[in-house]
Amino acid sequence: RSAIRPAGGQTIFSRMTALAAETGALNLGQGFPDADGPEAVLAAARQAIADGANQYPPARGERTLLEAIAAHQHHWYGLEVSPDTDVLVTVGATEALASAILAFVEPGDEVVVFEPTYDSYAADIARAGGVRRTVPLRFPDFALDEDALAAAFSERTALVLLNTPHNPTGKVFTAAECATIAEHAARHDAVVISDEVYEHLAFAPHEHMPFASTPGMPERTLTISSGGKTFSTTGWKIGWVTGPADLVAAVASVKQFLTFASGTPLQHGIAAGLCLPDAFFAEQRAEMAARSALLVDGLTRAGFDAVAPQGGYFVLADVAPLGVDDAAEFALRLPTEAGVVAIPASVFCDDPDASGMTSVLRFAFCKQRSVIDAAIERLVDTY
Ligand code: PMP
Ligand code: GLN
Repeated sequence: RSAIRPAGGQTIFSRMTALAAETGALNLGQGFPDADGPEAVLAAARQAIADGANQYPPARGERTLLEAIAAHQHHWYGLEVSPDTDVLVTVGATEALASAILAFVEPGDEVVVFEPTYDSYAADIARAGGVRRTVPLRFPDFALDEDALAAAFSERTALVLLNTPHNPTGKVFTAAECATIAEHAARHDAVVISDEVYEHLAFAPHEHMPFASTPGMPERTLTISSGGKTFSTTGWKIGWVTGPADLVAAVASVKQFLTFASGTPLQHGIAAGLCLPDAFFAEQRAEMAARSALLVDGLTRAGFDAVAPQGGYFVLADVAPLGVDDAAEFALRLPTEAGVVAIPASVFCDDPDASGMTSVLRFAFCKQRSVIDAAIERLVDTY
């Protein structure tokens, strides 16, 4: 596959959402919620518009959001983050990733990624002229293969790109796994980018641990997150990077010429969200865990081999028990055959066989329970 030019010229998410619209199928493909998030978040953005916060914000971000992000990192993880130097607000996690990768990858540099890999990582690395070195997370337990990890590092390693909770496997990396990755990163003097957009969606008993809290790692880790998943505002595209001042400055120097800044009133909305009481985050986490269980149970009843995720928005399910070996082909007929859209996990892989993803589909459960129930009913009736 070409990372920069995916099949059909569009990302898999655009393609499958278009297919859902064309066929009227239930969209369990692209990961976006189908209901609004907390009213306090929406109200704060509306108020900011009414109060005249409608011009460019400072390039680093609105002060109130910089402070809320720093306070959030301290409150939840005990991380010391200065709102003056250690935070940068971006256009979603997507721009944070692109800016960071462009800042740290020179042509020929190698980037260690875990596969399946979120699609924009591969495109960004290719744009920067970098080379992906993949570590497969194998269906169905997605264990960290320490030999494959060691083999992925070389003198050319510039960057490690981690994602926890992980899209699409739902894996939550443990402290021990982070320590193993950290050892290699330190030995090769690599920067680590940790994409933690699902940080508040690790399902009990699994706990999210920011990679930056791994001993020895704060000085070489950039943490990326976004308000989209936590507050069900994926269309607002407010993301951020936190980390040591020099690394954040390098990302800011790229970002300023991509978009400079964006979304002033929306930044106020997300700042209000980050200050919500802990109970909001706990309820959200419990609700999403319940929806994931609902979907896993339904897919299992329909004959799929579904794996319970430890976090995130998605369930992976093998369709081999239905007699299908190519999930990419199956995903194209699923909307008309069953009235449901899902994403083939192979699109996130250079080598789908290495991670056992050839016959695996990704289903999103960030949808209302009634929608999940209806999708399950269709799948059970059809297969
Ligand atoms: N990283 C991962 C792992 C994601 O799943 C997504 C999509 N939600 C993003 C980054 C992009 O986030 P945003 O919408 O904030 O740009
Ligand atoms: N992150 C979302 C997903 O994994 C999609 C975001 C997008 O469409 N770029 O489904």
